Amino acid sequence: MNIAVNTKGSKYHVNEKGYYGRFGGAYIPEMLYPNVEELRTKYLEIMSEPSFQQEFEALLRDYVGRPSPLYLAKRLSEKYGAQIYLKREDLNHTGAHKINNTIGQILLAKRLGKKRIIAETGAGQHGVATATVCALMGLECIVYMGSVDIQRQAPNVARMKMLGAEVIAATSGSQTLKDATNEAIRDWINNPVDTHYIIGSVVGPHPYPDMVARFQSVISEEIRAQLKEKTGNELPAYVIACVGGGSNAAGTFFHFTEEEGVKLVAVEAAGQGVHSGYSAATSQLGKIGVIHASKTLLMQTEDGQIVEPHSISAGLDYPGVGPMHAHLYESGRGLFLNATDDESLQAAYELCRLEGIIPALESAHALAKLKELELKPSDVVVVCLSGRGDKDLETYIKNLQK
Ligand SMILES: *Cc1c(COP(=O)(O)O)cnc(C)c1O
Repeated sequence: MNIAVNTKGSKYHVNEKGYYGRFGGAYIPEMLYPNVEELRTKYLEIMSEPSFQQEFEALLRDYVGRPSPLYLAKRLSEKYGAQIYLKREDLNHTGAHKINNTIGQILLAKRLGKKRIIAETGAGQHGVATATVCALMGLECIVYMGSVDIQRQAPNVARMKMLGAEVIAATSGSQTLKDATNEAIRDWINNPVDTHYIIGSVVGPHPYPDMVARFQSVISEEIRAQLKEKTGNELPAYVIACVGGGSNAAGTFFHFTEEEGVKLVAVEAAGQGVHSGYSAATSQLGKIGVIHASKTLLMQTEDGQIVEPHSISAGLDYPGVGPMHAHLYESGRGLFLNATDDESLQAAYELCRLEGIIPALESAHALAKLKELELKPSDVVVVCLSGRGDKDLETYIKNLQK
């Protein structure tokens, strides 16, 4: 297991100061310093321990169901004229890649002696993944969620409660994800000793982006081994993933960043169109700024107020992007594309009909860009199917009838 691999000297991974190029860092209030400092000094040491890795690996295998299959999608491949493999994160317990990170962080929290877990959630997917691992470990779980989102995402609220979590409504601002995150940070400041904050993506202050990327890096570690077995070559021509905060993409890219022959394709949500005013294409539209304690690209007004993002998929509806991705974009190492709501819906319907797989709307954004790559028949392409589509059925049904 390679989660603690040494990345010193890499141009694309975090440096000793917590930065990716000019992005990253830890822009935290003084009151939060002890918590973040404790994590920063201990995360790599803990993640390197053989006993930690054994426990992480065993839970990923027996509880999550890893390794997730790498599936050669024959009919999709025929259609796009390449060898297209799907990394089946949709088959994980709880239906997406998010559980890889929450398992890792709860094991870390236990080693730090924490008794209480807090998390933020937007659509509720990360809240469910956090409530799941808290039930598994018998730890108290508090999930902050905007009151607008609580109304919109009732089934996930019910799941969290059934799993024993307390869901607290964030009633300030737009009452959505960023407000829930603010509430979680406030809670952490007030409970610095016994509480661990499980952040759900490669965002937030250093070391979170690197820590979350490492827990998700099992995705690319498995891809390399699986490709080697299936094709004899562990390096594909392309890896493609959708980007909200960027955790499934970071996991998919992690062990390929230094292989310059492998193209890293990140797909953001264009909503109704990049320049429509209803978009979440952060790297295209964003300017450098600080959000949730990290310096990154973010959608903002002239005077630095956050612009509300829009996407048909709740998981991509974030006004910032992780600092690793901001750097992959700016350095040119990553190819950043974006897919509209309509394109993504079409890509989802297509996968259903061609392969018998109903993808999450987020993952459908990655699939939607296959048509824009100049693929050759010999090209091996890996698409991260970050999650399953059960949660999106209502949206799919509504739009089918249009
Ligand atoms: C949350 C979510 C995403 C977006 O989050 P990232 O951190 O960008 O990976 C993508 N796909 C699914 C299925 C999700 O639940």
